[in-house]
This record gives sequence, structure tokens and C-alpha cells, in this order.
Amino acid sequence: MTEQARGKAFAVVISGPSGVGKTTLEQRLIEADDRLVTSISATTRPPREDEKTGSDYFFVERAVFEKMKDRELVEWAEVHGEYYGTPRRFVENEIADGRNVLLNIDVQGGIRVKNVFRDAVMVFIFPPSFETLKERILGRGVDATLDLDTRLHNAIKEISASDQYDYIVVNDNLDETVGQIQAIIEAERCRRERQNPAFIDSFNRQE
Ligand code: 5GP
Repeated sequence: MTEQARGKAFAVVISGPSGVGKTTLEQRLIEADDRLVTSISATTRPPREDEKTGSDYFFVERAVFEKMKDRELVEWAEVHGEYYGTPRRFVENEIADGRNVLLNIDVQGGIRVKNVFRDAVMVFIFPPSFETLKERILGRGVDATLDLDTRLHNAIKEISASDQYDYIVVNDNLDETVGQIQAIIEAERCRRERQNPAFIDSFNRQE
């Protein structure tokens, strides 16, 4: 496709309760689409095994985060007692260069991103059932500091904000879910209002 025919890029917010598979989905989507990049958040939580600063998160001290909050972040939120935030410049630069930016962030952050980037596409991932949600949260060691009830409560709170999202995708079969999100992104790229007016105009001028 020529540059001229290519529409304006946009942010894609992916949210959903803990353990629903967002990180795996994110990796699969990025690998398959060279016009899609992932936003790397800043956080005060300590790195988990195998996590590296600059590729999973920018791991920073609380004092550093405090300074970044108002100046450098599109949004920030406290999740499970730690700060997380989205660096603004990266998102803006990538969109300006024609790449879509995937943001795997919680619902508070997602809603704030939508307020800043009005044309952001909001995708909420659901587990296939309440039972699977429980199993996935139980089977997951990462939020081990919180008891199951708190984790479930947080998950249900997260799900109740899904009415602020444009799309709901149920993550039952990973391949299907990836395909559905790809279809959403492709359809959104074709939206008339994202197209380059100069491209459309170049046809009108032929008469
Ligand atoms: P984890 O610590 O498991 O990597 O992430 C915990 C939660 O923080 C997830 O729900 C994730 O979506 C959210 N999160 C990660 N980065 C950001 C961010 O930049 N902003 C907001 N608001 N939430 C984030």
C-alpha cells in the first residue's frame, strides 16, 4: 500500500482481569504485525524473574515515578499498591510515524488514554466463564501477596468497567482470540475518518 493510501495510526487499548491472557495476546499480535508496536510502561513494582527494564517495563524507583507522573505520562494508576504509567512521547511518536500502539493497561488507565487519544480503540478481554476466571487467578503465582477474595474482587471490578470499551473479546481459544483482535484492528484501519483526505481527494480531482 502506498504511504498516501495509508490511514492515520491510532492507539489500541487492551484491558481485562488478571490472568485472562493479555500478555500472551500482546506478544502474538506484535509478532504478526509490523505496523503494531507495544507501549512499554513505567512501574514501581520490582521486576519478576526474566523481566528486563526497557523490554517488559521501565522499572523505576517511587521518587523517579513521582517526578514522571505529571510531565511524561499520558496516564498513571496505582494497581495492587504499585504505580504504573504510560510514557506519552513514545505513543505520540509511533502514531506520528504511522504505527499503531498497543497498550496493555488496566481499566482506569485505559479510560484516561481514551480521554487523551480520542480515536483510541478499546478492547476488553473476557475469560470464557466465571469458573475459568477463578481457576486462572488461583493458578497464577504473580499476585500471591493478595488473597483469592481480593484478587477476585479486583477482577470483578475490572470487568464492571468493560462498558466503557468498544469491543469485547472472549479469550477461550488463543488463536481465535488473536484473529478476532487482528480483525478489529484491520477494520479500524479502514474506517473512513482515519483515511488520508489527500488520497480520497486525488480521485475527486480526476473529473
Ligand atoms: P503486572 O504487574 O501483572 O505486569 O500488571 C498489573 C496490572 O497493571 C495489569 O492489569 C496491567 O494491565 C496494568 N498496567 C500495566 N502497565 C500499565 C500502565 O502503564 N498504566 C496502567 N494504568 N496500568 C498498567
